[in-house]
Amino acid sequence: MGICSQELHRKLKDFFGFDTFKGNQEAIITHLIDGGNAFVLMPTGGGKSLCYQLPALCLDGTAIVISPLIALMKNQVDAIRGFIQNKEGIAHFLNSSLNKAQLQEVREDLLSGVTKLLYVAPESLTKEENIQLLRQVKVSFYAIDEAHCISEWGHDFRPEYRRIHEIMKVIGEAPVIALTATATPKVQSDIQRNLGMTDAKVFKSSFNRPNLYYEIRDKSNPKHDIIKFIKENPGKSGIIYCLSRKKVEEIAELLNVNGIKALPYHAGLDASTRSRNQDAFLMEKIDVIVATIAFGMGIDKPDVRFVIHYDIPKSLEGYYQETGRAGRDGREGKCIAFYSFKDIQKLEKFMQGKPVSEQEIGKQLLMETVSYAESNQCRRKILLNYFGEDYTEENCGSCDNCLYPKKRFDGREYMCTVIELVLSLQESFKAEYLANILTGVTNSLIKSYNHHHHELFGSGKDKGTRFWVAVIRQGLVLHLLDKDIERYGLISVTQSGKDFLENPHELFLTEDREFIDGDEEDDDDGGMAMPKHTVTGGGDPVLFSMLKDIRKDLSKKLDIPAWVIFSDPSLEDMSILYPTTIDELKNCQGIGEGKAHKFGDQFIKVIARYVEENDIARPDDFVVRSIPNKSANKVYIIQSIDRRLPFEDIARNKDMDFEELLEEIETIVNSGTRLNIDYYIKQTIDEDKLLDIYDYFKEEAASDSVSDALKGLGGDYSEDEVRLVRIKFISELGN
Ligand code: ADP
Ligand code: ZN
Repeated sequence: MGICSQELHRKLKDFFGFDTFKGNQEAIITHLIDGGNAFVLMPTGGGKSLCYQLPALCLDGTAIVISPLIALMKNQVDAIRGFIQNKEGIAHFLNSSLNKAQLQEVREDLLSGVTKLLYVAPESLTKEENIQLLRQVKVSFYAIDEAHCISEWGHDFRPEYRRIHEIMKVIGEAPVIALTATATPKVQSDIQRNLGMTDAKVFKSSFNRPNLYYEIRDKSNPKHDIIKFIKENPGKSGIIYCLSRKKVEEIAELLNVNGIKALPYHAGLDASTRSRNQDAFLMEKIDVIVATIAFGMGIDKPDVRFVIHYDIPKSLEGYYQETGRAGRDGREGKCIAFYSFKDIQKLEKFMQGKPVSEQEIGKQLLMETVSYAESNQCRRKILLNYFGEDYTEENCGSCDNCLYPKKRFDGREYMCTVIELVLSLQESFKAEYLANILTGVTNSLIKSYNHHHHELFGSGKDKGTRFWVAVIRQGLVLHLLDKDIERYGLISVTQSGKDFLENPHELFLTEDREFIDGDEEDDDDGGMAMPKHTVTGGGDPVLFSMLKDIRKDLSKKLDIPAWVIFSDPSLEDMSILYPTTIDELKNCQGIGEGKAHKFGDQFIKVIARYVEENDIARPDDFVVRSIPNKSANKVYIIQSIDRRLPFEDIARNKDMDFEELLEEIETIVNSGTRLNIDYYIKQTIDEDKLLDIYDYFKEEAASDSVSDALKGLGGDYSEDEVRLVRIKFISELGN
């Protein structure tokens, strides 16, 4: 059946409300309706779904859409039902989440021919009962979404995808449309071979996303950098990807502590929390979602303004897909990834338990990421080249390497040396091996081939392995060299490489960038972003004594002990960090919201004047506030005290001993939160003792020291009693 363009446009408008097709959509849809197989490569946001949804609605029978994501299916089905009102049965999904009654409904709608689109998870498709059901259905065509899942060389291999071809044959032959947003040439050919559609017409959109900006940063101080970046981009939506759940939690908390509205998202959270957090992001109740890669598939938020990779991704496919979620509306989208080689080694270690072949593939994909990160070439050029597309602009104007270009040199001689070497070794070695020969590394592998006697051995000694690897990589991007991915990445010379050797011409190359190893440990304490200031001196002594004077005045005026206002360590911190706003003041030790507001005003005014008068360069334009220890407990403790729970119960519920609990409560009140613990004191300390201790702190104490108090009070009082009353005292006077 053919369909004319006018008719198609009318349906586009009727069903989806759009006036025009995007990119290749019309050509793809027409091809499919005419009964052809189609292979669609379109970047995220390009409008893939419409390529099968619209034809499904036009054609007789039911289109079977195979998609790996259960959550996504429901969204898509809801969306379709939304377009076509009053026809619930028009779209269904079939996956493990359905109950018996729902299954029955799907079955009836399918068999009566109401259903135009059926979404099926691959593992449901392989179930015998479903195959039997689908055999009775007239299939208009098959759509295979996220088709890269078929290939081990994709970034999300799913073995069930391999069975799709045979199952389609059993259910009944029909045209096939395969769609993906990421596929290297190797993955493309895997997909077509595996689905038995080598004859398919390939519709490939450019993968270039001109509005995205790419940058790779040293991972020396990522938390600091991230907070700074977000503060410079207030109110913008962004995604931060981390590799581990733990990191996700930690970064989300860090952001909150620093006044950025953020929530975590990862597979370890229960489903309702996940969807609540996701909604909060979509509805813009929060600005930032911190997530593992579990987040984002099918997320169609058009105005994500930045995507940050806290950890470097495992593959460029993943990187490209995740960064692709930025700027879907064609406007600003900044993509920043933090890179340190340590992270790469960590990722390699994770792979160790896996089958060898999988490890091989994983390592190669990882090395592509390393190349990308360390290169000084245009990032856009490398990325597009990786996906089999040439980008010919000299300067893309929107990546770190183009905006801040490194010195380039004429590398024609180096390239010729590499090409000569590759040819002399019959094109059977990998990049590092070649680089090692040129630098003159005598390792056992090189010896075993007797290559330490090769005439080029050591001829590039003055340059080092990294240099040569970079030359080879640029040769690949320029198509002078080629890499056989299926054979361990062996390097060969292309025809234009041979021509170049005959007839070398000017060739600008860059050296790789040197990255410092991140000092970031995965299990750090969250305080790495800014060294924790303790009272070790080092502060500004003049300012420190000025601050002490203010404190003394204030103490007289308010009739409370000086140490209740701000402790010495707090003042010390002020004399290091020079906070000039209440927010900054909260970054100093022991100063929370309450204290900052209650006492802070005068202090920051004096500091501001001091900074101004003495022309002081402050440590930074802002300071990262680290996560207070166990701040998760903090909320619980405050709530429990509000509910008047006995301390013993609170401690037990949180697996703490009493000491630890007291310490936490002290931290809470010291930083300015008022807690009313009278209910507990009444039960545990008798009235007279309470008054004695309270008076001591009010009239006599020169500091908050417990041991001084015990001495000053003389016998009869236990340490716990003193501490409890001190908590009451600080809370009432200071907060
Ligand atoms: P992909 O699956 O390729 O990432 P989607 O199918 O989710 O992309 O489509 C991306 C966005 O583009 C969606 O918001 C969709 O509604 C919109 N879209 C698709 N086709 C058109 C069109 N022809 N005109 C306008 N918007 C479109
Ligand atoms: Zn560039």
